[in-house]
Amino acid sequence: MTSVLPGPNVSPEGYGAVGYWATAHARRCVSIHEIGHIFDAHHENTGGYNQAYSYWTADLMHTVMWSYFFEHQSSPAFSSDDYQGDATHDNARAIRKAKLNVSQYVT
Ligand SMILES: [Zn+2]
Repeated sequence: MTSVLPGPNVSPEGYGAVGYWATAHARRCVSIHEIGHIFDAHHENTGGYNQAYSYWTADLMHTVMWSYFFEHQSSPAFSSDDYQGDATHDNARAIRKAKLNVSQYVT
């Protein structure tokens, strides 16, 4: 689950404005995030290879599985060893590994 605090706040780590205003970007990122959990994608600092990633561009950015949503600092992309990640921040690999199992879910 993504923490989506109403209005601007500072993350518990003390950086970045955290806020959720239901913008198209926010709704896109939160939807992708929650679907990512179904595919075994995890938050940051959870151990293992399937963790969210933060990186610098002009600003500090966070991949979509980060536990907080940042209106201007959240990317809709999953972490990957090929881009915006490394061997221990590779949610794209988790999705590739889980996709067959998820495709066989039935109601
Ligand atoms: Zn989550």
